[in-house]
Amino acid sequence: SATVIPPSVHGIEEHRLNSGAISIMEQLNTAGYDAYLVGGGVRDFLLGKIPKDFDIATNATPEQVTDIFRRARIVGRRFQIVHVRVGPEVFEVTTFRAGHEGHKGSDAIQNEAGMLTRDNIWGSVEEDAKRRDFTLNALYYNHKDRSVYDFVGAWEDVKAKRLRIIGDPETRYREDPVRMLRAIRFMGKLPLTIDEKTELPIIDHGHLLSEVSSSRLFDEVLKLLQAGHGADTFELLWEFGLFQTMFPEASAILEAQQDSTYWDLIEQALENTDARIQSGRTVNPAFLYACLLWPAAHQRFKQYLQSGMEPTEAMAKAGAITVDANATTVAIPRRFAQVTREIWEMQLRLPNTQTRRALSLLRNPRFRAAYDFLLLREQSQEIDPGLGRWWTDFQVENPDVKPEREIHTR
Ligand code: ATP
Ligand code: MG
Repeated sequence: SATVIPPSVHGIEEHRLNSGAISIMEQLNTAGYDAYLVGGGVRDFLLGKIPKDFDIATNATPEQVTDIFRRARIVGRRFQIVHVRVGPEVFEVTTFRAGHEGHKGSDAIQNEAGMLTRDNIWGSVEEDAKRRDFTLNALYYNHKDRSVYDFVGAWEDVKAKRLRIIGDPETRYREDPVRMLRAIRFMGKLPLTIDEKTELPIIDHGHLLSEVSSSRLFDEVLKLLQAGHGADTFELLWEFGLFQTMFPEASAILEAQQDSTYWDLIEQALENTDARIQSGRTVNPAFLYACLLWPAAHQRFKQYLQSGMEPTEAMAKAGAITVDANATTVAIPRRFAQVTREIWEMQLRLPNTQTRRALSLLRNPRFRAAYDFLLLREQSQEIDPGLGRWWTDFQVENPDVKPEREIHTR
């Protein structure tokens, strides 16, 4: 049963909500279906943040939703949803789903580790609430009566600004270990405390992340570290031991290092990334991964040099092996990994400041990233300062020399 929170109490003013989302709910209602705004769109609003996307939950099936909206298509297999376009925006419309008790062997499939691999059993709105991850993500705003429906005691948590998992924490983390990363992500970005029972199992169950597909983890890491709160989130991931599970090689080096150069490089990179996002600039996954994996790549490079390998070959090989080794946990798609390795390889060319070569480097599409990376290495005192300044001046002296446009080949 639901607790109904009226507008006078929850304080959400509908005209401040996304008009596209409202219009979708209206059309679903007109067609005779229930429709609610749910998830981050409601949560962020109640915590005084501006939501970045708006998810809609309905009792209409994906096919029924696509019958109503002309610009709609079903996406996903493991978890079917409908993307509905309104103007330039895309909204996710999700059919209410049931939990899994009593459904074993039907359309919900669990592997031996207890992980859900398929999740398309339709249910009631109450069942839908209970299969969500955290109480704050399970509040349903109803356009029809402007009220918020709470099936999981979420309102108490809103008032206390507390992150609490729904159901038995350990079971829910086993079902989907990414929920541990999501907990950290919300703690990094929102003014929240975490409920003790929600927090405690994370330390002991971090290893479950190794069961999650390496490409899903790649996406999750970007959501964690390239969403405007990367520096704080990185520290939380480290505290909970989750970074260590996802980046085992780099972490072992970070842990063993006497000085803090690699740590400082990663922190500084994330602070710069946060600042870029604040000011509306773009951020580059390849650059982020160049920083995260640098401890491992750099150590390998030095080993190969010691064994007599020539520098260019040593860096190429170190780059390839480091990226491959990390792919067992977090796999960088090839198009990004290629750029990551070029950023590393260019570190060997930057010390050559002979004018003709320097001019040609300025035209390299990867110059800017490699130069930013060099600055980070100097700032973190991995290398002595000086070269970065030289390149800063050289760019000022050659304002017309710009990177060539990349030619994309597929
Ligand atoms: P953001 O602001 O980052 O979009 P969000 O909470 O909206 O945060 P989404 O990934 O958009 O995150 O998911 C929408 C909703 O779907 C969540 O609020 C939650 O209710 C539910 N959800 C998402 N991922 C999971 C999961 N792994 N387990 C259970 N429920 C989930
Ligand atoms: Mg969302």
